[in-house]
Amino acid sequence: MKAINAKDIERLNQILQASSRTVIVTHMKPDGDAAGSTTAMYHFLKAHCKCDVRIVLNDRFQRAIEFLVDETTARDMTIYSENQTEAEGQIAAADTIICLDFNAFHRTDKLCGLLDASPAVKVLIDHHLYPELDKFSLAFSETEISSACELLYQILMAMPQIQHDAARLPKPAAMSLMTGMTTDTNNFANSVYPSTLAMASSLLAAGVDRDYILSCLYNQHSESRLRLMGHMMKDLLTITEDGAAYMILDKETQHKYNVQEGDTEGFVNMPLSIAEVRMSLLLKEDTDRIRVSIRSKKGTSANRCARMFFNGGGHENAAGGKLELPFHEVEEYTRKHVHIYLTEHED
Ligand code: 5GP
Ligand code: MN
Repeated sequence: MKAINAKDIERLNQILQASSRTVIVTHMKPDGDAAGSTTAMYHFLKAHCKCDVRIVLNDRFQRAIEFLVDETTARDMTIYSENQTEAEGQIAAADTIICLDFNAFHRTDKLCGLLDASPAVKVLIDHHLYPELDKFSLAFSETEISSACELLYQILMAMPQIQHDAARLPKPAAMSLMTGMTTDTNNFANSVYPSTLAMASSLLAAGVDRDYILSCLYNQHSESRLRLMGHMMKDLLTITEDGAAYMILDKETQHKYNVQEGDTEGFVNMPLSIAEVRMSLLLKEDTDRIRVSIRSKKGTSANRCARMFFNGGGHENAAGGKLELPFHEVEEYTRKHVHIYLTEHED
């Protein structure tokens, strides 16, 4: 990654010290990196800034990352889908808005219009391609990094309150940063840079309990989730001659296995363990759309496929999007467009 610019850190510190109401936002359906960066920023601000701090989310955190929400954080958190009026009020009252782990306002779903309309000073801290830089007064955007949590870690370490000593980070912030980096790297399987291991080392030395984090993230699932995984790998996985793998999960199956938000996290990566598979897709029927997750091996771009055919984007090898098609047309659409993509747009 590029070194963090000292002038940007100075400006961030000025913004935060001058703020009286800061709101932290992240993308819809927050994953571990979104939740980790949000709660880490929250704890830093609570410890080192005088401002009133609120977190405003489109949706709640998934069950596996709820351990990052302690009592005070829960009190200062508003969920738009559960309390629209309060969420609108919080964003309208903010003089500063910190945007974490997303590159464009539409990724916050229903918060998008509120963010666009707000005259607050907006700060971006993100690791996705193609950020909407013109929407922000200050942007920390870095794609050669594991996660938004790692980028936030580098920023916080450079802040005068921390002085490159991880032991000075508030303890819950350190745990949140380790958590988000762990989930976005798939527990050190992808996007790991020398700086990522250095961060892990410093956080461990500062006392972060990684065993506790791993147990919360990976050993607290339901039996039905594991049974669903077996069913999907055995009966719902199609592998094409072009080296694509896809699984389509309908509502009925989700209901049968009592699927909760976050339960299918990681399933899309599994078909990449097959030698011939270059790209893997999971298409999941949702209330008003089909949600698409795409992962690829090095040399094949999940991001380009998501942008060209699935109304989305993301990172080079981990991307997502959506389809607004009748469910019965999804398989045909996927088979056809993945074939076109792998034969005409990738070599
Ligand atoms: P996931 O498959 O875990 O939901 O998402 C993987 C990556 O793709 C994430 O970095 C996420 O930001 C991005 N992504 C997921 N859905 C969308 C989408 O609808 N639009 C865009 N632009 N990116 C997405
Ligand atoms: Mn992320």
